[in-house]
Amino acid sequence: MHEAGLARGVAKALRERGLRLGQVRLAVRGGRHDATEFEAELRAHLAAEIPDDATAIASLEVRRLPSGHMCPTCGVEFESEIVAPACPKCGVDTLAEVTDEVIEIELMEAVG
Ligand SMILES: [Zn+2]
Repeated sequence: MHEAGLARGVAKALRERGLRLGQVRLAVRGGRHDATEFEAELRAHLAAEIPDDATAIASLEVRRLPSGHMCPTCGVEFESEIVAPACPKCGVDTLAEVTDEVIEIELMEAVG
């Protein structure tokens, strides 16, 4: 699982920019893991990486951004924020083209 590495990256980016968890939300794109499990793992690793900001982790907003999917059966390409959405044409489960989740840090409000 690469959630530990992602959490470390988020913690490092926040430190470098002088931000706290309460000032940002996370946007996740891609990945093939169950979204709920991924988020739970991510929060657990963030709590370990940023122990002094642990209370902010519970209220941290994590949203899903659409990413590219391709149907293995009929080849239709489409965008969806769901991890394994059904193909809009033939209905079979599809997989994201991006195998591992990518996290973007978004500022909730302007600082200063
Ligand atoms: Zn299809």
